[in-house]
Amino acid sequence: MSSELLDGSKTAREIRSEIKFEVEALIARTGVVPGLAAVLVGHDPASETYVAMKAKACAAAGIASETHQVPANASQSDVLDLIRRLNADGAIHGILVQHPVPHGLDEVEILAAVDPRKDVDGISRGSLGALITQEKAFAAATPKGIIELLDRYSLPIEGKHAVVVGRSIILGKPVALLLLNRHATVTIAHSRTQSLADVVRLADILVAAVGKAELITGDMIKPGAVVVDAGYNRVPGRSHDVGDVHFESACEVAAYITPVPGGVGPMTIAMLLRNTLDAAIQHADG
Ligand code: NAP
Repeated sequence: MSSELLDGSKTAREIRSEIKFEVEALIARTGVVPGLAAVLVGHDPASETYVAMKAKACAAAGIASETHQVPANASQSDVLDLIRRLNADGAIHGILVQHPVPHGLDEVEILAAVDPRKDVDGISRGSLGALITQEKAFAAATPKGIIELLDRYSLPIEGKHAVVVGRSIILGKPVALLLLNRHATVTIAHSRTQSLADVVRLADILVAAVGKAELITGDMIKPGAVVVDAGYNRVPGRSHDVGDVHFESACEVAAYITPVPGGVGPMTIAMLLRNTLDAAIQHADG
């Protein structure tokens, strides 16, 4: 079998052009320009790259964005003061605190300080809790992007057995809850899971969210499965990042698979823009 690609780059481009159109319509209707504030604490090169990519994507979609670079030695109360100012700023509809913040700061408390109506990154305890209670909140961008990609390819979720490998707060747990809320039967695997291959082989939908290059190989995958690889791993000597799934062997058995790069990654930014636009619409419509 040769898998069909779940093309996140193409899908994200389509979503971003829909968003641009909707942003123009919102501005024409209400005068409200959606605004995103990114808070970047310290000097993590990967985080700086992500924030720059997000700012560029905002500009292309007509969303105003500003980046608040906070020194690594800032105190917890300095960061909380900034969040409070952004919460009160009527031109800002979304606040993104780039994960991770440096050691010594309490990231959970910082995220909790973000006004829930502006929590477009969806990883505060309030927004994560809303996934359990199924209340209205912004879903975290990468998990939401994974569901959106499945939907755009009309791949059913209800009744399927979804296996999520990884249980992080930003990715594994929220994507498992989103799949559960869409009526999948969900298994979560992690570093203490025994016989990972046997667990992975149960998956009609497999989400790999580990951060270990090519951990999952084709022989572990059920024939005809949908494979979503969220992993990004730098491997010395390879020209681009590789996923958590061994792509070539997985392609032999999976019905659908995301490439790395060009799968889940571009969907994350598209969903951040979507959440920011939705926050601005909610603000404009009161
Ligand atoms: P993380 O916080 O390090 O979590 C990794 C998870 O994988 C943990 O739950 C860990 O289990 C589990 N794990 C580690 N080794 C394992 C093994 N051998 N077998 C089974 N499970 C194992 O990572 P993350 O932030 O969720 O990110 C995961 C990957 O997704 C990374 O490659 C990251 O770059 C990528 N990512 C991509 C995007 C995007 O595309 N936009 C966004 C976020 C993350 P324990 O809980 O037991 O330690």
